[in-house]
Amino acid sequence: MPAVRVASVERGSIAAALGIMPGTELVSVNGRRVGDFLDWEFLTADEELLIEARQPDGEAVVYEVERPEGESLGVELEPPTVRQCANRCEFCFIEGLPPGLRKPLYLRDDDYRLSFAYGNFATLSNLKEADRRRILEYRLSPLYVSVHATPLDVRRVLLNNPKAPDVLGELVPLAKGGIQFHCQMVIVPGINDGEVLERSLADLWALSESVISVAIVPVGLTQFSHLYTGRSMDRGMAGELLGVTGRWSARARSERGTNWVFGSDELYLLAGETLPDAAHYGDFDQIENGVGAVAKLRQRVGDGMTGLTRREGARIGVVTGTAMAPLMGDIIAPIARRTGARFEVIAVANSLFGPTTTTAGLLPGGDILHALAGRTDLDLVLIPAESINDRGLFIDERRFDEIRDSSPVPVHASYDFVDVLA
Ligand code: SF4
Repeated sequence: MPAVRVASVERGSIAAALGIMPGTELVSVNGRRVGDFLDWEFLTADEELLIEARQPDGEAVVYEVERPEGESLGVELEPPTVRQCANRCEFCFIEGLPPGLRKPLYLRDDDYRLSFAYGNFATLSNLKEADRRRILEYRLSPLYVSVHATPLDVRRVLLNNPKAPDVLGELVPLAKGGIQFHCQMVIVPGINDGEVLERSLADLWALSESVISVAIVPVGLTQFSHLYTGRSMDRGMAGELLGVTGRWSARARSERGTNWVFGSDELYLLAGETLPDAAHYGDFDQIENGVGAVAKLRQRVGDGMTGLTRREGARIGVVTGTAMAPLMGDIIAPIARRTGARFEVIAVANSLFGPTTTTAGLLPGGDILHALAGRTDLDLVLIPAESINDRGLFIDERRFDEIRDSSPVPVHASYDFVDVLA
């Protein structure tokens, strides 16, 4: 079992007062072994704690703690060892990454703990009995699950894993124990559409309130998706999938008062159909999965209108990917009216992943830099904040401040325009 070590300690916290420091190994809490961040989080939920630890110099220590209700211990742990994926899906996004990116991007995680903690999708194809017990004991709910198909033979083809277990065999006992799920199905034409999709939705529907939402996502490929042997998604197929989604949503609305199954934004764009408004998505449970992101953007723009300041005649460039570019005019029009500014949508093609990768979030800094070269005719440029990670890096390792400093006009990272223009 890997050691669980402290990465940092909050100043003035209980942990700091105890003498816990970066590098301290947390061994057990109230007699139960700490195996990872989940153990630490759940075992320290009590107010009376007996913590066995080992200091960085090897000294064994025992801390007796009475933690006032609601007060955190103030410990941040080192990142966990991630459970890696044993599948080899032909459509795997990681397999479709160009070579030469930073190492962590190539990590294929399939970890129920990250599914609970961060909303990462997991297939549950690598669960051991102890994991199942833990999910139930700690009530790790909701979990985000890549179902793709419920018939075992089809799912094994999709996961490219002849040993993958029956997904219903995993979901049903957990559901009985009170665990809920957000599911996704990545649709590969000719494999899990049609009858397989119908059967899979029927199986998930039969799990009743345990399945909170299902996302229908078209297979997404880049020019590097070397494993993929299937067909790509076309407009007609995307329209059919939205037809199925619409039928099941109608049933879910009448029987359970929720839309339940949602097409991803990309599916609507591929089908050339109008994206629903915010009310369609309820709590936006799968927004990180590209479901309802456009509606959410519209909603945020609407909510932020009153805070906008006049910028009469200012020329503002809005950088985006080629998928969103055609929708931007409508989204920006009310901002233009309110501010008096003139907007130009700058659609940037992705030279790193190739033309099939159209999302703004994966735009390389180098392509943005190239698109802004010589644009002295603009007064301000907004670039998609989701294309920059929390260390200020684009997917191609370019730094945001490098682009900001080399651009002839002020450049701001923006999630929804109103965050910068207010
Ligand atoms: S489950 Fe499939 S798509 Fe997900 S990481 Fe593993 S191989 Fe890639």
